[in-house]
Amino acid sequence: MVNENSVDFGNKIVKRADKQKLVNKVFNSVAHKYDFMNDITSLGVHRSWKNDLINWIAPQSTQNLADIAGGTGDIAQRFIKAGGNSAHVFDINKEMIQIGKLRYKNFNKLEWTTASAENIPVSDNSFERATMSFGLRNITDRNKSLHEIYRILKPGGRFICLEFSHIENDFLKKFYDIWSFKIMPFLGQKITGDKDAYIYLVESIRKFPTQAEISQMLSVAGFSRVKYRNLSNGIVTLYSGWKL
Ligand code: SAM
Repeated sequence: MVNENSVDFGNKIVKRADKQKLVNKVFNSVAHKYDFMNDITSLGVHRSWKNDLINWIAPQSTQNLADIAGGTGDIAQRFIKAGGNSAHVFDINKEMIQIGKLRYKNFNKLEWTTASAENIPVSDNSFERATMSFGLRNITDRNKSLHEIYRILKPGGRFICLEFSHIENDFLKKFYDIWSFKIMPFLGQKITGDKDAYIYLVESIRKFPTQAEISQMLSVAGFSRVKYRNLSNGIVTLYSGWKL
């Protein structure tokens, strides 16, 4: 059972101290094919979800973004392209950051730091905007990381989180389950050579708290005007909260 010493890792229950190592192993293994696999496993739809995130933020030239668990920098580069001033990617995984740094080497408004979302190495009230896209599911102490994000935002700042969620339509759910449990691990094996990484992905999505529970966690971390929007029938959800 999950308690103060243990936590879920997909369908397994592991020691809290071990989850991060297991998550790092997943992303070390798939980093080189991570963005390509996102296109394949979502049939390209992750691009539209990320566009919706950026549209909700509506970047301005006065705004600096902290993209937490930012991986290869997909959200950060979109923020810059959409008119934001600068973006700082924080991710615990050096491999993911290395791939992003190479890909966006000509972007001079991007910064990269290897750091945990549970302990972000910047002072209080530093950023106008913060994002976390498909990161929260992987984090051991989610409450701690939400408190950290709240801390580094300036008063008046906004956090938008994109995460897999819980599908609403029964018919779609049947198709989604077949896609998730049969096709995604198969594609993961063929393309990255790591079936287990995609089994973890699918299981961790099913274990993730509901939209109402995540909204409650945002409120407890201090965020105001917490709202969420389901996309693609609840396959993913966008959450928004303000530091007021
Ligand atoms: N945000 C990117 C995107 O939307 O494409 C990457 C998402 S990827 C599914 C999850 C990322 O979370 C990985 O890059 C992983 O290294 C990172 N991650 C996992 N645990 C973390 C932690 N404790 N702190 C910061 N990043 C973490």
